[in-house]
Amino acid sequence: MIVSVTLNPTVELVYDLESLNINGVTRTNHVNKFPSGKGLNVSRVATLMGYDNIATGLLGDNLKQVVESSLDEDGMHHQFFQISGQTRNSVAVLHDGQQTEILEEGPTITADEANAFIEHYDTLIADAQVVALAGSLPQGLTPDYYIDLMHRAQKKQAKVIIDASGSTLKEVLASPINPFAIKPNLDEIQELSGQTIDTRDYQAIIQLLDDAIFEGIELIVISMGADGAFVKYGQRYFKASVPSIEVENAVGSGDSTVAGIAIALDQNEDIETLIKRAMTLGTLNALEKRTGYVTKENYPKYFDQTTVTEI
Ligand code: ADP
Repeated sequence: MIVSVTLNPTVELVYDLESLNINGVTRTNHVNKFPSGKGLNVSRVATLMGYDNIATGLLGDNLKQVVESSLDEDGMHHQFFQISGQTRNSVAVLHDGQQTEILEEGPTITADEANAFIEHYDTLIADAQVVALAGSLPQGLTPDYYIDLMHRAQKKQAKVIIDASGSTLKEVLASPINPFAIKPNLDEIQELSGQTIDTRDYQAIIQLLDDAIFEGIELIVISMGADGAFVKYGQRYFKASVPSIEVENAVGSGDSTVAGIAIALDQNEDIETLIKRAMTLGTLNALEKRTGYVTKENYPKYFDQTTVTEI
């Protein structure tokens, strides 16, 4: 069983306008409202592929029902913990060929809530093989909190995947406890290492991944969009290539890749199958308009067109 954790979800509002009347009123029926968060995407994709999972995290009373009814519609299992603060909205306005976004900072989690969520989490992970900690931390929680969640899961023999960026990922990697897997994209690995990566220079990537900060992490998947991925597993290295497709919306492809890693670990698949599964789900997401969404029937076709080569 897979548990995904989304500590800072949002309900996105997307207004698709022909033009925006600045300092005036713009009326529209073209609005889309949906819950968004990396862990939610991981769980949705695992659900769509038919694998047992549960989504958890923190939700304010203001949007709890909106989020939960949307997850119900998608047939997802979820057990969120209610906080006293308000879950954030984010607003994207598509207008005049441009995109304007407003992102709320979100709630501040109290120490009592942080402790109470740990209890809730401990119950949920009792039977988990894999735990995916995905996305940013809300105000009030520090990277130590992710490290604690990771430690608790590992004590129960679960494999932990961390998909975070910036200082959160940096601090997690600096801690003495290591996640089983991370999935940085190119930008994230460049930020982490302070180096620019030439995706064709495999030896330079190998050298970079031999840096002490990555020591003890079993699986590192550097996802590279249409260029597939570079993977380190133990002391083995792989390059994955994905088929060339017409992209509808690649937002959420990284989360779908994390879903693939989680499913493969849950199913004890070999490393080549894991990489192909992770890549295929990223590609399937890019074929869809909806973020964090895949069509299961497309899976075999794209799986067969994905290749993995050991370096
Ligand atoms: P992130 O969303 O974290 O930035 P990527 O953009 O690297 O992640 O995408 C994750 C994976 O999704 C890639 O490794 C690849 O398998 C798949 N993918 C993403 N973009 C494309 C694309 N244009 N064509 C085919 N597959 C893609």
